[in-house]
Amino acid sequence: EPILRIRDMEYSYGNGEMALKQVSLDIYKGEKIAVIGSNGAGKSTFFLTTNGVLSPQRGEIIYNGQEINKKNIKELRKNIGIVFQDADNQIIASTVLAEVGFGPMNLKLHKDEVMDRVDEALSYMNLSSFKARPPHYLSGGEKKRVTIADIIAMKPEIIIFDEPLASLDPYNADMLEEILEKLESEQKTLLISTHDIDFAYRWAERLIVFANGRIIADGAPIEIFQNR
Ligand code: ADP
Ligand code: ADP
Repeated sequence: EPILRIRDMEYSYGNGEMALKQVSLDIYKGEKIAVIGSNGAGKSTFFLTTNGVLSPQRGEIIYNGQEINKKNIKELRKNIGIVFQDADNQIIASTVLAEVGFGPMNLKLHKDEVMDRVDEALSYMNLSSFKARPPHYLSGGEKKRVTIADIIAMKPEIIIFDEPLASLDPYNADMLEEILEKLESEQKTLLISTHDIDFAYRWAERLIVFANGRIIADGAPIEIFQNR
């Protein structure tokens, strides 16, 4: 059974145009999915509706067998984490510790559990020595790692990376690939949007191609590239 099932999802920002049109797909636990498509194709909108930040006007989302509605939409946000492209817009707290603790605190977990999760996420991201630092003064790559720690501390089942490679230097890009390998070994389900076709081909088991708000291809990278 798929972990996430989406049927005929449609989303409009209210300007008459549909940013997503009849989007349907099933996602299985542990899949490694690359999402590609030109700017404006709908990738970000797809991510934001998939994790419940935006509510689609039409369609069905079934998470772990449970149909999502207004009352349980929080289940999506809790279980599907997004690492946004722009780390600066994602960081809100004045120390790395408070930043990474913010999500678990919002889950109303016990204080000890929050601290355990923060320690675990920081050590996972090689950031343990950064706890007391103000995140805004870190380097771009370090900020990116903080935003990934934010998501890891939530222990989501599915992690979405919105163009993670776009702003990273080679050192941090290598580090990101190591983190992806660790997450894969833990059977996390991963979706990554990218303009880097070489990366998508090398990394992904499944490729989803968006154009004009629709999924125009979905399958093994080798099959999709053969048909283009
Ligand atoms: P991406 O890198 O995901 O393609 P975009 O450049 O599409 O990012 O969008 C960057 C930001 O601008 C996002 O927050 C998006 O919601 C917003 N945005 C994109 N298109 C529009 C638009 N036509 N009107 C208002 N905001 C937009
Ligand atoms: P992508 O992530 O593939 O670049 P988006 O999901 O950002 O695509 O955009 C899909 C469509 O929705 C585009 O036409 C874009 O201009 C529009 N859009 C995105 N964000 C907004 C927004 N906040 N307000 C209005 N239109 C938006």
